[in-house]
Amino acid sequence: MADQQDKTKNKLHSTVTDHSSCEFQYNLASLTPTVCRLMNVDPPSLSNSRPIHSIVSNISTGNRLTNVDRCLIFCPDAIGLDLVEAHPEPFRKVMEDTGIRIPLCSVYPPKTPVCFASMFTGTEPPDHGITVYTRPVLKCDTLFDALLRAGKKVAIVAVRDSSIDLIFRERAMDYYSEDFDDQVTRRVIELLRDGRYDFIVAYQQEYDDTLHSISHDCPEAVRAMNNHVSAFDEITKAYHKYWNNYNRMIVFAPDHGAHFDEKTGRSDHGDNIPEDMRIVHFYGFNAATDNSENPGESK
Ligand SMILES: [Zn+2]
Repeated sequence: MADQQDKTKNKLHSTVTDHSSCEFQYNLASLTPTVCRLMNVDPPSLSNSRPIHSIVSNISTGNRLTNVDRCLIFCPDAIGLDLVEAHPEPFRKVMEDTGIRIPLCSVYPPKTPVCFASMFTGTEPPDHGITVYTRPVLKCDTLFDALLRAGKKVAIVAVRDSSIDLIFRERAMDYYSEDFDDQVTRRVIELLRDGRYDFIVAYQQEYDDTLHSISHDCPEAVRAMNNHVSAFDEITKAYHKYWNNYNRMIVFAPDHGAHFDEKTGRSDHGDNIPEDMRIVHFYGFNAATDNSENPGESK
């Protein structure tokens, strides 16, 4: 019955956004209902996307991990599916760190605040209200509000004045604004070690900065991409080390892709084209280790 309702809802909202440039079954708004299902949290009120079936069914029928206690979402800006497919080697590392790869559509327009508002409300842009590149504080119900109602402790670690740093403000959670990506990495590792949060979002932007200033596939952009992959790997190691006593999940969750714009001679994003709209999220799950090694052992 619930599945039938989910399908009906999806049909309704699939008429809102034209995904014709992207063939995948889910879009990035699926992250919110998926996380809520796994963490046993009631979804935020606007959430009308379906949780990713292959993930929630595997986890709920799996032997060991039925309830996720802690979750880390890593959001590297503008890492699209084309980039991932063009660089299989670094993303093999992301796959090793996670294990589940879900190709997804972005939402239209594939602009950063539009996308992250959808990712963390579980719905389409017209519903949450950010439909163009604007960055108001979202007044509507979000995944963060849902987690806070469930008694979870939440932190966002983001580059200062980025969309994620701004649009989810004014909640009873902690905001860490850093000047550079590597400070985001260090802060996240510090918070994992500290252990006081159940849910952490980490946002980095070097790749997006580089594609706008040069192009999406120049050597500098590839270096930025590799920096995001290395940061994710470093964070994943800390996630295992410090959260090993918790059922936990980690997600590599970019917002959109990018394309080269002949008119400006630089790259950009925001169009309903496969290069901008096709992305991939990587999900990893780990059960709490009962007889863990001493987490401080290899400090
Ligand atoms: Zn973006």
